Amino acid sequence: RQIWRLARRPVGSVTEGDLVLRTEPIPDLAEGQFLLQVIYLSLDPTNRIWMSDMEQYMPPVAIGEPMRGLVAGRVVRSRKAGVAEGEIFSGFGLWADHLVTGGQNFSRMDLPPGVPLSVAFGVFGLVGPTAYFGLLDIGQPKAGETLVVSAAAGGVGQVVGQLGKIKGCRVIGIAGGPEKCRFIVDELGFDAAIDYRREDVGARLDALAPEGVDINFEQVGGPVMEAVMGRMRLFGRVALCGLISGYNDTQAQTVPAPWTRLLMRRLTVRGFIVTDFADRWGEAVSALGGWMAEGRIRTRQDVRPGLERAVAHLDSLYTGGNFGKLLVEVSPD
Ligand code: NDP
Repeated sequence: RQIWRLARRPVGSVTEGDLVLRTEPIPDLAEGQFLLQVIYLSLDPTNRIWMSDMEQYMPPVAIGEPMRGLVAGRVVRSRKAGVAEGEIFSGFGLWADHLVTGGQNFSRMDLPPGVPLSVAFGVFGLVGPTAYFGLLDIGQPKAGETLVVSAAAGGVGQVVGQLGKIKGCRVIGIAGGPEKCRFIVDELGFDAAIDYRREDVGARLDALAPEGVDINFEQVGGPVMEAVMGRMRLFGRVALCGLISGYNDTQAQTVPAPWTRLLMRRLTVRGFIVTDFADRWGEAVSALGGWMAEGRIRTRQDVRPGLERAVAHLDSLYTGGNFGKLLVEVSPD
């Protein structure tokens, strides 16, 4: 069989020699395994992440190991009960024309009538569910809101924009080049497109969405993300799906490290101001009061005399001169 192995960690873009194509014998089938003839190999931006040793969500591919990839293939030999020759499976496989698996990380594909394997695998394999969960669960779209999606003409982006339309959002796609921009508007029904290669993304967003952006479905990072983030509305949502502009950047300059960490560790970040909870103030006071009465919460106040010294006292907050909650005693308690 033919199989790609990772020869070294790429620096910058993947180049000739980072991976090597080998001809190797197909391993023998053990009991409980089957042999897949690969029909489609999915190429995904995350392949570049797996080749690197940057922070990521799975172990990177080790040097010398076969390159990992999503595949769809036909069973050509089976020693696994319940798996028959001719069936189609997809899942995490290898960059190879044949592979042996016990079926872990694979699932049987039942093609909906009239849907070719390329479409079923292309959409259901990875990008469709990514768009579905990312937009619906994390983006929480509501009718009338403005949704911006970057890498809009790509695998995930196409679906995100159309799901946004189904949910009644105004959808603005950001893509590279006039052809992709025309495609998402004319053929997919997005409301507008911004060509980030030729246009000033911020200025175009100001014109298209003067009220700002409710949902950012982020796939790119870097300057495109900055332009969108600078226009987020109060209580907007960011579905942090990808940061592709940083994947080839081995110096981590395009995408600051905290953003990569947010993505890879799936951190929850929600800005808040305490007044958002004004209607639950009483709940907090009574809970805190209860724990204070039990001695489980103790506090220290730093009470200073003299209203006339207020400015000097204020400065202590920024120098660490206060120790505990700073109060000025303006008249005797
Ligand atoms: P796409 O089909 O969208 O292909 C990638 C696209 O990204 C390119 O076509 C290009 O479009 C755009 N792009 C590449 N480099 C840059 C750059 N420097 N600045 C702006 N745009 C750039 O791929 P996918 O749909 O598979 O993936 C899209 C994103 O979603 C990726 O970030 C990927 O990592 C992420 N993803 C995340 C998943 C998750 O579970 N969180 C799952 C699947 C994907 P253009 O010509 O418009 O620039």
